[in-house]
Amino acid sequence: MALIVQKYGGTSVANPERIKNVARRVVATRRAGNQVVVVVSAPGDTTDELIALAKQITDRPSPREMDMLLATGEQMSIALLAMAIQDLNEPVISLTGPQVGIVTDSVHTKAKILSVSCERLEKELQKGNIVIVAGFQGMTCEHEITTLGRGGSDTTAVALAAALKADVCQIYTDVDGVYTADPRVVPGARKLASISYDEMLELASLGAQVLQPRSVEFAKLHGVVLEVRSSFNNNEGTLVKEVTEMEKAMVVSGVAGDKNVARLAVFGVPDRPGIAKTLFSALARESINVDMIVQSYMRDGINDIAFTIGRDDLDKAVRVCEQVKEEIGASGMAYDDRVAKVSIVGAGMITNPGVAAEMFACLAEQGINIHMISTSEIKISCIIDEEHLTRAMKALHERFIGPAES
Ligand code: ADP
Ligand code: ASP
Ligand code: MG
Repeated sequence: MALIVQKYGGTSVANPERIKNVARRVVATRRAGNQVVVVVSAPGDTTDELIALAKQITDRPSPREMDMLLATGEQMSIALLAMAIQDLNEPVISLTGPQVGIVTDSVHTKAKILSVSCERLEKELQKGNIVIVAGFQGMTCEHEITTLGRGGSDTTAVALAAALKADVCQIYTDVDGVYTADPRVVPGARKLASISYDEMLELASLGAQVLQPRSVEFAKLHGVVLEVRSSFNNNEGTLVKEVTEMEKAMVVSGVAGDKNVARLAVFGVPDRPGIAKTLFSALARESINVDMIVQSYMRDGINDIAFTIGRDDLDKAVRVCEQVKEEIGASGMAYDDRVAKVSIVGAGMITNPGVAAEMFACLAEQGINIHMISTSEIKISCIIDEEHLTRAMKALHERFIGPAES
């Protein structure tokens, strides 16, 4: 008997018909002789709607109360899915993240899972129950409810699969696998049969929202093989796993775009030790994730430092920069949230020089200006104006992966 963890995203449980469809799929997996743990997201756009609701009350909801609110979305799904499964006469129980013993740190709205205790889950599975778990939520050691950041149900599923040593972790979504680019943006994108953890982690971190980056990190750490599939058909999906050298055929395996980017710059900072430490420690204290950092070449003893963050953190980051500006002796600052990041990812880049030059040439041919660049062994990212993102993704896809298959 195999133990299977399945995760169904928001679109898959968006309405009663879809919930019943998921129930049928889960019951079929159980009746095929498997133990099944199911993780579900909030229905459809519920999380976005809850965030909008909070904004109607206040501009600055406290993160603790935000988590209290957001966790309710997933609780709707688990109860409704359990009811649908009961209707199919299969024993089932729904459990919240805290009931399952998902313990997180206390960074509200983007908490990290610290541990998962399996006793309750194992007890329910032994009783023959299908277990439905609310994704995206956990509890601190002080019994405070937390959420795991947008897309966090993926991470719940992987964490449960790792803790239970499940045979497989299936991520059911509204696309039938991981594509060479978001198929909604680049219609010619191709489905990948498999992708390495490292490449998937880069793609996810660079904006391919099909998996939450943290879930891929967790899967790699614990050797959990992920299968990304559609809940709307039975097509073969994409395996996310350790890929052998032989399989690393493509120089570029994917193109990603991310609009959740804002850039800030502090100008005229003195070129001496401790400046970067002061600035970035102050941002870290506010739990602001900094992505790219560029420090200009020193002229006349002064530098400019530019960096990017998520748009949600912009107000907070501007406040922090205004506070530390005096302390670090900066002459000014600027910020902009109409930028986006376009990236190419591929393990084959390590051994193929000239990929960066080709990317810049491709953007130049499109008349797209590059504001910032960052590279790692397996990715190159450029910050460009947001309005050019789709065109940049299509052009880069055509250049590195090829035209749409007919
Ligand atoms: P769920 O609600 O099931 O978690 P998400 O909306 O979080 O689903 O993720 C699925 C979406 O990810 C797809 O609808 C697709 O538009 C988007 N996406 C972005 N990049 C990719 C990619 N490279 N491959 C597949 N889907 C992608
Ligand atoms: N409901 C949460 C979100 O919309 C978590 C998830 O879907 O994974 O981000
Ligand atoms: Mg998701």
